[in-house]
Amino acid sequence: MKYQGSCHCGRIKFEAEGEITSALSCNCSMCQRKGTLMWFVPRGNMQLLTPEEDTSVYLFNKHVIKHRFCPECGIHPYGEAKAPSGEPMAAINLRCIEGIDLQAIPVTQFDGRSV
Ligand SMILES: [Zn+2]
Repeated sequence: MKYQGSCHCGRIKFEAEGEITSALSCNCSMCQRKGTLMWFVPRGNMQLLTPEEDTSVYLFNKHVIKHRFCPECGIHPYGEAKAPSGEPMAAINLRCIEGIDLQAIPVTQFDGRSV
């Protein structure tokens, strides 16, 4: 299934394809503050509909995750990183996807703080 997502103001818009079977809630210093519910898809399954230059990037710790956010409205719609296999992945913030019932999606807690 294909899903549409965006930041709040619409400067960042994207589509992502896949099945949303669960969400990941992480307690690392970044995710705890953002409150994101993440859904991982291969980066190739996510298509930006707006120019990548319109996003801002935040890096911290080992600088392996690109936290993409909107410089206009401040919302973080997705992040980019590589899976242990080396495959580029997108961590999509399910809170930025339109038309889904977040309450119906099982949430897995991830102890990112201890990693
Ligand atoms: Zn925005």
